[in-house]
Amino acid sequence: MIGFEYVRATDVADAVRQIAGNPRAKFVAGGTNLIDLMKMDVEQPTRVIDITRLPLKQVEPTADGGLRIGALVRNTDLAYHPTVEERYPVLSSAIMAGASQQLRNMASTGGNLLQRTRCAYFYDTVTPCNKRAPGSGCAAIDGLNRGHAILGTSAACIATHPSDMCVAMAMLDATVHVTGPAGERAIRFADFHRLPGDTPQRDTNLEAGEIVTAVELPPKGFATHHTYLKIRDRLSYAFALVSIAAGLELDGEMIKEGRFALGGVAHKPWRDPTAEAALTGQPATAATFARAADVLLRNARGYKHNTFKIDLARRCIVRGLTQAARGTPQSQSSKKIV
Ligand SMILES: Cc1cc2nc3c(=O)[nH]c(=O)nc-3n(C[C@H](O)[C@H](O)[C@H](O)COP(=O)(O)OP(=O)(O)OC[C@H]3O[C@@H](n4cnc5c(N)ncnc54)[C@H](O)[C@@H]3O)c2cc1C
Ligand code: SF4
Repeated sequence: MIGFEYVRATDVADAVRQIAGNPRAKFVAGGTNLIDLMKMDVEQPTRVIDITRLPLKQVEPTADGGLRIGALVRNTDLAYHPTVEERYPVLSSAIMAGASQQLRNMASTGGNLLQRTRCAYFYDTVTPCNKRAPGSGCAAIDGLNRGHAILGTSAACIATHPSDMCVAMAMLDATVHVTGPAGERAIRFADFHRLPGDTPQRDTNLEAGEIVTAVELPPKGFATHHTYLKIRDRLSYAFALVSIAAGLELDGEMIKEGRFALGGVAHKPWRDPTAEAALTGQPATAATFARAADVLLRNARGYKHNTFKIDLARRCIVRGLTQAARGTPQSQSSKKIV
């Protein structure tokens, strides 16, 4: 049994105060990731700060026509929110493609952003893992790496970020709002998660003592031409081998704007402006999508067991963008389960 102190934060300022100066303190929201990690001895916080009572549970329109999502909005509530279903259906689809109904009922927006990798060696405390124990090595590089990254890897870590929700938020150009000892700041979604580099123990650019308060979506939601396509080993309750969140703005057959982000392939949701530029002004055809896929995957690198992911990603991009162009999203599954 490992002892830890449990405290409850009364407001955001109190949460920031309670975590200040203790690098081993942790916030807990839904607890669906942190508590597992504590039970498996991967995380050993000395202080757990319960933030579930903070007033961060609203989904509100912003002055510029976007949407502000409080960090404590549950994944289920967000997926079923009428404005999200109507204006940002790719986000509903992505959330509904993740985990299970029970988990989504507990999981929070902030916790989903900060969930940790599903690399099996990260969870196995008797194997080397630079993310869990910096400097110990990476058991995955020469080990079982079927689910691991093919883009943006380093000699220190080849883990992927496991979230589905974040892939849609990356495609939508969201902004993460945080509060810390130095006050409030906003972080572009693309800059929130990090590549592993030499410091794989750091998943994000959140500074010590900062709390995520909200995620803001800009007005554009690609509601007409979008898809979230998730390729996995079984149809539910499995993390992505490769996923894509795609959004297109079409002018007849031509692409005015195209965006796509991939999940399951890197340490963060993966977007590539050069690949998206390859869509602009082009006809919305499989040939165009294949060219954009080749651009995005030009530096992809496979390891012993995951080289198949490069071809899978190429096919996933072509299929995802084709579905988006036809207005036939793959997992428009945000139907209420009663
Ligand atoms: C069996 C299983 C299957 C799953 N399958 C999927 C899947 O297919 N796709 C998918 O996307 N996810 C999946 N998940 C992961 C799930 O989505 C996450 O566990 C969940 O989103 C985490 O949210 P939470 O509120 O429970 O976080 P917690 O467990 O409470 O916290 C997670 C981390 O975030 C930190 N944190 C939480 N809130 C804040 C905040 N506001 N500010 C700063 N730090 C914060 C905590 O300190 C902790 O480090 C699965 C989980 C399980 C257990
Ligand atoms: S891939 Fe990353 S998380 Fe997995 S064992 Fe290597 S260092 Fe650890």
